[in-house]
Amino acid sequence: MKTIGLIGGMSWESTQLYYQFINRKVKQQLGGLNSAKVMINSVNFAEIAEYQQQNRWQDAGEALAENARQLQCADADMVLICANTMHKVYDQVQSAVDIPVLHMADCVAKAILQKNLNTVALLGTKYTMQLPFYRERLAMHGIQAMTPDEATQDQLHQIIYQELCLGIVNAESAKKFQSMIEDLTSQGAQGIILGCTELVLFIEQLALSTAIFDSAQIHAEAAVDLALGNANFSDFSFPKTPTTTT
Ligand code: GLU
Repeated sequence: MKTIGLIGGMSWESTQLYYQFINRKVKQQLGGLNSAKVMINSVNFAEIAEYQQQNRWQDAGEALAENARQLQCADADMVLICANTMHKVYDQVQSAVDIPVLHMADCVAKAILQKNLNTVALLGTKYTMQLPFYRERLAMHGIQAMTPDEATQDQLHQIIYQELCLGIVNAESAKKFQSMIEDLTSQGAQGIILGCTELVLFIEQLALSTAIFDSAQIHAEAAVDLALGNANFSDFSFPKTPTTTT
């Protein structure tokens, strides 16, 4: 079994879910007392969130790159950045290490394509919804990602940073999230990407008729497939002729 290295703490509320998703899948696959070989290298999220707010992505990237180097030195076989937003600095992290860094959007895209869908809604932080890095990566797989209007994006961003990342799961906010999903579905989204690793905390409060793609679970389980030799990194790569987002 290969060792999975997690860059965690962004926020720790979702990193603990990664640990569960990974171990549950190993147990399901191997049974008995089997559990995953995992190393979690956790950051202080307050520092990373400050870099984000100050638009200091290079500094945030260097912090995560150093974290990834430490995982590599500790003999991890792969690295996962356990946050959609921080895939903004994916290239900086991957170029800092020789081991592969499994891109979350590649894993999510694969799950969407397996369901024969190509137009989905992307819900996450303002950075993930507004900046091109995530939508463009999905587009490289031929997937078009719709996002809500700016006021809704602001509302969701606040819910993520002021509630979910602090472990607060508020029923009113869950209702707002439900109506965001309904609006995007009525606008043509065939599925919804929970494109923030904390959004799954709402899942029990949602009444869902649309396909849901939980980025955290999909990413974690893809790592297990790699760790157990049931998938290769090339399974997550995109076709060589990318399409572009609008
Ligand atoms: N965990 C979140 C994500 O998946 C938000 C926290 C962050 O900004 O990294 O994007």
